[in-house]
Amino acid sequence: MRLIDGFRQPRAAAALTAELAELGTALGARQVKLMEVCGSHTMAIARHGLKDLLPPNVRLVSGPGCPVCVTDPGYVDAALAIAERGAAVATFGDMLRVPGSRGSLADARADGADVRVFYSPVQVLDWAAADRGRPWVVLAVGFETTAAPLAALALEIRRRGCDNVTLLTATKTVPPALDALVTDPALSIDGFLCPAHVSAIIGARAYLPYAEEHGRACVVAGFEPLDVLDGVRALLTQLLRGEPRVDNRYERVVRWDGNPAAQRAIARVFRTVDAPWRGLGVIPGSGLALADDLSDLDASLRFELPVTPGRVNPACRCGDVLKGVIDPEGCRLFGAPCTPDRPFGPCMVSSEGSCAAAWRYRRSTQ
Ligand code: SF4
Repeated sequence: MRLIDGFRQPRAAAALTAELAELGTALGARQVKLMEVCGSHTMAIARHGLKDLLPPNVRLVSGPGCPVCVTDPGYVDAALAIAERGAAVATFGDMLRVPGSRGSLADARADGADVRVFYSPVQVLDWAAADRGRPWVVLAVGFETTAAPLAALALEIRRRGCDNVTLLTATKTVPPALDALVTDPALSIDGFLCPAHVSAIIGARAYLPYAEEHGRACVVAGFEPLDVLDGVRALLTQLLRGEPRVDNRYERVVRWDGNPAAQRAIARVFRTVDAPWRGLGVIPGSGLALADDLSDLDASLRFELPVTPGRVNPACRCGDVLKGVIDPEGCRLFGAPCTPDRPFGPCMVSSEGSCAAAWRYRRSTQ
């Protein structure tokens, strides 16, 4: 069966694929590199085998769009140290098995540490209210999409007077990472499939500098396979016309100005700081730390435990995967010995990680 026969709308997929082939032909000898800056896009692309439907001169690479993957191992080390001091540590599930310099939170839990997984950060308030004699620390990892509910959590901690709950922040914003990518001449990315969930918060307008100042094609697209193919078509069309711009093709979710209420909540609760990104180094203004008047909710201050850079496994090439320098299969550890059951780096752990996506869907088609 052809790949597109498995799509819900195979005719539309066939038509889009034919258009992409024509656009590839029109590009001639030009090689085009596009980056999807969203772990959910990475998963959708791998799940539906979309790279196989692109023209041979169009390469789609993954970017730093998985917040767990870009988190420095020193952050995991700090969370482990806090757990060792008897605090309960609450986290989204994706962080559990991410390796720090000396193990993961899952290892610590197996050794008796109290590490809980939440689905919504506010769940932690009920757990902590029933356990007021003990400190509870929420691992605040994510991009703008997660920063909004974390902001709501911080305000709710304050409102309820939950003085045994603090946040260990490694929250980040995406535009400064795009700045780092477009100003790195070695990466030569022609266009971005912009992060759609993040765009719902910051708005499509946020990408104007990458089109207008840096000449990169920018398209906001949804997560259905046809959305992604349509997004690539729109990117190639911009490149062929030589007219880079921001094209919001996900208007059913993303507004030009984003979500002002969420933006206000983030601005109220957080201040921007420089932050380390795996693979990209320290990016100025890319981190979100708690605002000065909420600093008593900062776990690193409460525990007097600053987050310092951790030790990255030197053989793991997550940094290069996150910049689109290599595909996951280009890492010599991919599949042997690094697998989701025995991950050497976060890109093989996270449900949005490029290595996990490549492994999972490679396996399912064999
Ligand atoms: S395959 Fe494993 S070791 Fe290699 S880059 Fe991916 S996560 Fe790191």
